[in-house]
Amino acid sequence: NLSDKLDKAFHILKGHGKITEVNVADTLKEVRRALLDADVNFKIAKDFTTKVKEKAIGQDVLTTLQPGQLLVKLVKDELTELMGGDVAGINLSGNPSVILMSGLQGSGKTTFSGKLANFLKTKKNKKPLLVACDIYRPAAINQLHVVGDQIGVEVYSEPENKNPVEIAQNAIKHAKANGFNVVIVDTAGRLAVDQEMMDEIARVHKAIQPQETLFVVDSMTGQDAVNTAKAFNDILNFDGVILTKLDGDTRGGAAISIKSVVNKPIKFVGTGEKMEAIDVFYPDRMAERILGMGDVVSLVERAQEQFDEEEARKLQKKIAKNEFGFDDFLTQIQQVKKMGNMKDLVGMIPGASKAMKDVEIEDDAFKHIEAIIHSMTPGERSKPAIIDVKRKARIAKGSGTKVEQVNQLMKQFDQMSKMMKMMQGPGGKNLMKMMGG
Ligand code: GDP
Ligand code: MG
Repeated sequence: NLSDKLDKAFHILKGHGKITEVNVADTLKEVRRALLDADVNFKIAKDFTTKVKEKAIGQDVLTTLQPGQLLVKLVKDELTELMGGDVAGINLSGNPSVILMSGLQGSGKTTFSGKLANFLKTKKNKKPLLVACDIYRPAAINQLHVVGDQIGVEVYSEPENKNPVEIAQNAIKHAKANGFNVVIVDTAGRLAVDQEMMDEIARVHKAIQPQETLFVVDSMTGQDAVNTAKAFNDILNFDGVILTKLDGDTRGGAAISIKSVVNKPIKFVGTGEKMEAIDVFYPDRMAERILGMGDVVSLVERAQEQFDEEEARKLQKKIAKNEFGFDDFLTQIQQVKKMGNMKDLVGMIPGASKAMKDVEIEDDAFKHIEAIIHSMTPGERSKPAIIDVKRKARIAKGSGTKVEQVNQLMKQFDQMSKMMKMMQGPGGKNLMKMMGG
């Protein structure tokens, strides 16, 4: 995939202290090839590498101390810019705010309608109404009702009515009369762009004048996604793009191409079938994902400033000897706290975000963690395996926490130990070196 390809491309540079102009050109050629392989349009990929090259030369990459890192950063910044630079918000200024979903069948409109309703309800304190305008399949109306029940959001439908314009208009009236401040209109899609579908969505769009028209696209459809986006944009001049199915092993190319071709921001991404699997789209994080390397550069910079080398060396020895215990975990936490937000940090370590996926880390969680560790005996700290149910109950009591929190910490500790070991592998060499090894 793209990440692997770029990894290879950067590998050329990473090992070298100094690089030559030939090296830069070679690497950027690899970058371009990787983008093309990920279905990024040829011209976009070419423009991209040309731009990076110009910037690299402008900044005198060749004479800096660590040209490889600088080039990596340039590529990442440029990729971020290409995908929209800043985070794009969603317009909720209407009363009610009307949001219209568009896109092909199967792109994820109905699922995303539910996710967005849930997001606005739980995170933005809104009262959303879902509207079923997919009138062609009875199952579609049903599907939206199931989604609505799941998240506790009302669904407006008129199963007998075959006119989506009317349904949408009636729904807005219903919303106004009943205190709903957001109306999310789910529409019908076809398997491919066709005139009838386009006419219908255009009529609904014209009649309800939505604050936000969102185009939903399956990120696994590659170059096709771009053509579809263009067709919908020509008709609707939509406000933003929703990239769904970004969970699995999806190519990142669609994000780059769509943004370049229709010049509309990507606003949210769907990352799974569950209602919670929605994320605001962050261009910089997407660039990192596409590059698949984490923000190694800034991690290195920040870590070098803050990390106590002596501690790190001791730690490395302990990891090597399998003696990593809770005392060390505590030291780690203190170090990490100095370095900044832990979630940010974990995200910067390639591979680590995956390893830590199931572990919720929050800054204020440190307080509990520290309390729990302080309530452990030295023996328990150095040999966590001896902590049984009875000991857990005592530790929870002593630290003013719950047994579940102790269990959670044990799990985090386990993950962290695994990660530490992983970092000693080939991928983590640089990190260990930076930690003072
Ligand atoms: P619609 O025809 O545009 O309304 O698409 P649906 O919302 O019915 O989604 C089509 C299929 O894609 C369903 O099986 C969804 O569960 C699935 N789906 C939607 N969004 C995502 C996502 O972000 N990730 C994954 N893995 N599946 C998704
Ligand atoms: Mg649907």
